[in-house]
Amino acid sequence: MDLKRRPLIAGNWKMNGTSGGATVLVAGLSAAAPDISAELAVCPPFVHIESVRKAISVISLGAQDVSFHDDGAFTGEISASMLADMGCRYVIVGHSERRQHHAEQDQIIAAKASKAMQAGLIPIICVGETLAQRQTGQTEMIIELQLSGAVPRDATGKSIVIAYEPVWAIGTGQVATTAQIAEVHAQIRENLQKRLAEPDYLRIIYGGSVKPENASEILSLADVDGALVGGASLKAESFLAIAKAAV
Ligand code: PEP
Repeated sequence: MDLKRRPLIAGNWKMNGTSGGATVLVAGLSAAAPDISAELAVCPPFVHIESVRKAISVISLGAQDVSFHDDGAFTGEISASMLADMGCRYVIVGHSERRQHHAEQDQIIAAKASKAMQAGLIPIICVGETLAQRQTGQTEMIIELQLSGAVPRDATGKSIVIAYEPVWAIGTGQVATTAQIAEVHAQIRENLQKRLAEPDYLRIIYGGSVKPENASEILSLADVDGALVGGASLKAESFLAIAKAAV
């Protein structure tokens, strides 16, 4: 394992579960975490963060979104400082479901990532192409545009994580091939190597229908430093099986 890039296996629980179920799940994960070499993180819905926080150990806590505003009169928003105060280490920004259903664009995502960094959180910045973009040969261009628009100018290799999530592979059971994943991860590394301070620390994780059955071949790719896991993170058994595949 490259100590500068300890693998990160992050669970995106999305809008699922009860506080009781979240507590049971994180307690089970916490019990197993000391035997796993990768860093584990869970990103519950905002309302479950407090109960998860009480039951968590060894594992990092994260959130699924953050406001680009500072604290104040912004009804319904959750600020980066609030997440830091709740013990969060990570926050997902620019997930394709937020891009799609909430019309979030790179400028907003960069602003969210900046606020996260200012509060001492590590934003997990998601990038990825749609199926139509891949089929029309635009993947490389889309990734370049998203990196230049959504990664804050003052980000460093230590202060952010990039998640490559092809939109067509999220929640669909359709996984990108290892060749496709390797190609895009290498592109992201090359792009950010030139731009970021401390580039050797940059973790680039893959997301899109990662399961116990495909985790080892994905996680063994040279430029893949972990996974962002949706559906399979909702059960301790499958999440831990994925985490164990990261060595
Ligand atoms: C995700 O939500 O980021 C994700 C990758 O979901 P799934 O693993 O279910 O495809």
